Amino acid sequence: MSDKLTCFYHPNRETRVSCGRCDRPLCPDCVRHGATGVRCKECITLSPAERGLASREQIRNALAAALGAAAVGGLVFGLVDWVNVVTGLALGFGVGLAAFHASGRHRDVSIRALAGGSALVGLLLAAVVSSIGMAGAGGQLGHVLVNISFAQFLGPSLAAIVGAMVRFHF
Ligand SMILES: [Zn+2]
Ligand SMILES: [Zn+2]
Repeated sequence: MSDKLTCFYHPNRETRVSCGRCDRPLCPDCVRHGATGVRCKECITLSPAERGLASREQIRNALAAALGAAAVGGLVFGLVDWVNVVTGLALGFGVGLAAFHASGRHRDVSIRALAGGSALVGLLLAAVVSSIGMAGAGGQLGHVLVNISFAQFLGPSLAAIVGAMVRFHF
């Protein structure tokens, strides 16, 4: 019965699957699926790149680029008082593009999430800036925040998130 393996973590469970890197036998509960095949839970944590995940540095770069693009885009669209679904989409796309390239062309979910979050920040910035413009130079910030119609910016906000995601799908 030498061909019957038992799980490295569960000696009472038989299995035919083993880690593609260290050859430990693994039961279904212990199998992890990496970008290059079956891995045990130790090997899967060794190399984030092997899992297709972004490194911390790539995440940092992507976040900086995404927030930068969001700040610039939000300011510009806000100043010209041009906040709608189309500009939201454009803003999101720009942010997604910045995050995608700054991260080394990663499609990792963490990069997508920070791109989407940054796009939303940029859109909200645009909403605040355009509302300040509407309230006039003497407008108080409290007034400005009250004046923002969140229903009005719901569409552009969703468009910004969608725009940020688009870049990661082609
Ligand atoms: Zn392993
Ligand atoms: Zn197991």
